[in-house]
Amino acid sequence: MPEGHTVHRLARALGELFTGEALAVSSPQGRFAAGADLLDGRVLVASEAWGKQLFLGFADPTLVGPGTAGRPEDVRWLRVHLGLYGAWTFAGDGSTAVVHAIGAPRRRIGERETVPAGPGAAEPAPDDGWSPPRPRGAVRVRLVGSHAVADLTGPTACEVVTAEEKRAVEDRLGPDPVRDAAPGEDDPREDFVAGVRRSRSAVGLLLMNQDVVAGVGNIYRAESLFRARLDPMRPGRDVPAEVLRTLWDDLVVLMRDGTQTGAIVTTRPEDRDRPAPDVADGPDGRRRVRQNTDDAPDAVPAAEAFYVYHRDGLPCRVCGAPVLLKELAGRNLYWCGVCQA
Ligand SMILES: [Zn+2]
Repeated sequence: MPEGHTVHRLARALGELFTGEALAVSSPQGRFAAGADLLDGRVLVASEAWGKQLFLGFADPTLVGPGTAGRPEDVRWLRVHLGLYGAWTFAGDGSTAVVHAIGAPRRRIGERETVPAGPGAAEPAPDDGWSPPRPRGAVRVRLVGSHAVADLTGPTACEVVTAEEKRAVEDRLGPDPVRDAAPGEDDPREDFVAGVRRSRSAVGLLLMNQDVVAGVGNIYRAESLFRARLDPMRPGRDVPAEVLRTLWDDLVVLMRDGTQTGAIVTTRPEDRDRPAPDVADGPDGRRRVRQNTDDAPDAVPAAEAFYVYHRDGLPCRVCGAPVLLKELAGRNLYWCGVCQA
């Protein structure tokens, strides 16, 4: 499942590609035909993420013009949650805005980012008169602007909501380390501290609870707890507030960095020198850890990027003890029993 930084990257890419444009909105698969009708021909005026929720704001084109964005309550919002299998696929005419937003003729962003290479991957050049490629697979929503197309497949949630309904969703979510707090909003760090400390659940569970903190997934959970040297099974109410403030500040840095680069890197340079075998597709069928930056020359390879995630049985980068794994509420939890005692 994509973690929050990926959803923020999607919000940014969609905003850069389409803001200010009246979009052709359709549901090639048909399952979202009624919702698409409500948005078709409207102008994209906002593209936001809160945790793993993506919100695209569409306004009536007759109400949007230079210097006016219409009334906020008239905006219709497309709410999307990718869940386990959802992804957006982008393609464009290669113009500057497209290259800036997605960096490739065709890119898929979901569980991880992929950029198909080689002949056939490129879309027609702009001077051929660009037209969007045919939808591939079961496309729930297709957004077409003048220079680009975005196709959504396999989301867990995809619906049109009012501004009020959007606020209700946001009110239920915990603070998001990637979001800047709006003026007058509560201090997100203190919200997070209070959310953890009012519960007797394990802090390792609370970090995955989107009502406590929005956008943290399995990787950021495992890695931030390791960096804080915090036992994942410690009850939330027993974790000192100062430790939680440091953990929050760390999540802000790590997740904003992930939003910038598209990859999660949590290891400090001095902890990467211990040679460790790559986590391979072994006989146990374990998934190899890959990141979209793996082929970039200066990127930290995935095998060096994490302290504990997918490193069970390998020596801890700090103390050398084998990294531990257990299932907690249906998700794999990785930690070091020595560093995080
Ligand atoms: Zn250790």
